[in-house]
Amino acid sequence: MSTNFDSTSGQAGQVRFYNPGPVWVRSQVLQALGGPMLSHRSQAFMDLYGRILDKLPKLFKTKGSAHTIATSATGAWEAGLVSCVEGGPVLSICNGAFSDKWGEMSQRLGLETDVLKFEWGKAVNPDDVKAKLVAKKYAAVTVVHNETSTGTISDIATIAKTVHENSDALLMVDVVTSLAGTTVEVDEWGIDLAVSGSQKAMALPPGIAVYAVSEKALEAAKKKKHRGMYLDLLELEAFGKKKQNPTTPSLPLLYAMDVQLDHILEEGVANRAARHHEMLKTVEDWAAVNGFKFFPEAGAHSPTVSSLIPPEGVNAEELNKALKADKWTTGSGYGKLKPTNIRIGHMGDVDVASVKNYLEAHERAVAKLRGTAK
Ligand code: PLP
Repeated sequence: MSTNFDSTSGQAGQVRFYNPGPVWVRSQVLQALGGPMLSHRSQAFMDLYGRILDKLPKLFKTKGSAHTIATSATGAWEAGLVSCVEGGPVLSICNGAFSDKWGEMSQRLGLETDVLKFEWGKAVNPDDVKAKLVAKKYAAVTVVHNETSTGTISDIATIAKTVHENSDALLMVDVVTSLAGTTVEVDEWGIDLAVSGSQKAMALPPGIAVYAVSEKALEAAKKKKHRGMYLDLLELEAFGKKKQNPTTPSLPLLYAMDVQLDHILEEGVANRAARHHEMLKTVEDWAAVNGFKFFPEAGAHSPTVSSLIPPEGVNAEELNKALKADKWTTGSGYGKLKPTNIRIGHMGDVDVASVKNYLEAHERAVAKLRGTAK
């Protein structure tokens, strides 16, 4: 159920930025970046960080720990693997560019890694996951909730149930473009490590990752001898208990996060998810009338990013060029989809009215490209 909450804090209907991360950031958040420098061992810092550590678990829906680390989201993927997995085997579920990369990371770390591949645009099929788990005992499973490269969302609730019913593997989930944009239930689903970045649906500037970690994952970390230093989840956990980071944190981003978590919780996590689903519905209704086709299969359309194939005779890259010339920040198709797809990032604090304006701009750009503009 959506509300009248103005996610844009005064710029309703005006956002022109639709990159699928980094996303548009409210001016109130940008202003918060300019807070005073502090020692990260001072009481003032611990007050700030303590507020963040109280609020973050509400976003992840966990009674356990949630933390920040000054890396992009990829660093938190690596933290999970280097801290908790001794040798493997890891089951890397891949259905797009980001899940592929996480699998590649696992291999580059020297972990025994089996890849379970799905075609781009297809959601992860839990039955195929079950077949893998029944055939072999895995130490960890990695999966991406929302594949930003293809705009495809998978059913993590069912995948998690499958993992827990058929194995005792750690379940590591990339919630990079789902957290704060749709339902993420860390405790209810039994996620051992949920990882996200700041620059997506949390609508913060880039440069800091957030994660929630289970007791089971921390126990696995305790058994691992070499966990490195910077990305050691046990070290982060121990310092978190003192409301600190082990190393110098990104203070400006923490000021911004403190303000933005208040904003997110004021809107309400469920209302925020509903707003994202409303933005998706707006794009779906518009696409059906205007001849744009969704790349992902039906039922797996992402609530935070739409990957679309333009109508016959309209070139995706030309369309993006025309929109850019009209001063919109667009998203191109990702990787191999660049020549054929466009992506609309409708995540963070963007509102439905702004998305509608952006879609109308597509109609004008298409008319111009076809030479039918009035
Ligand atoms: N996972 C997903 C689903 C993403 O969309 C991205 C970035 O777009 C990443 C991981 C990598 O995030 P970062 O660039 O913050 O390391």
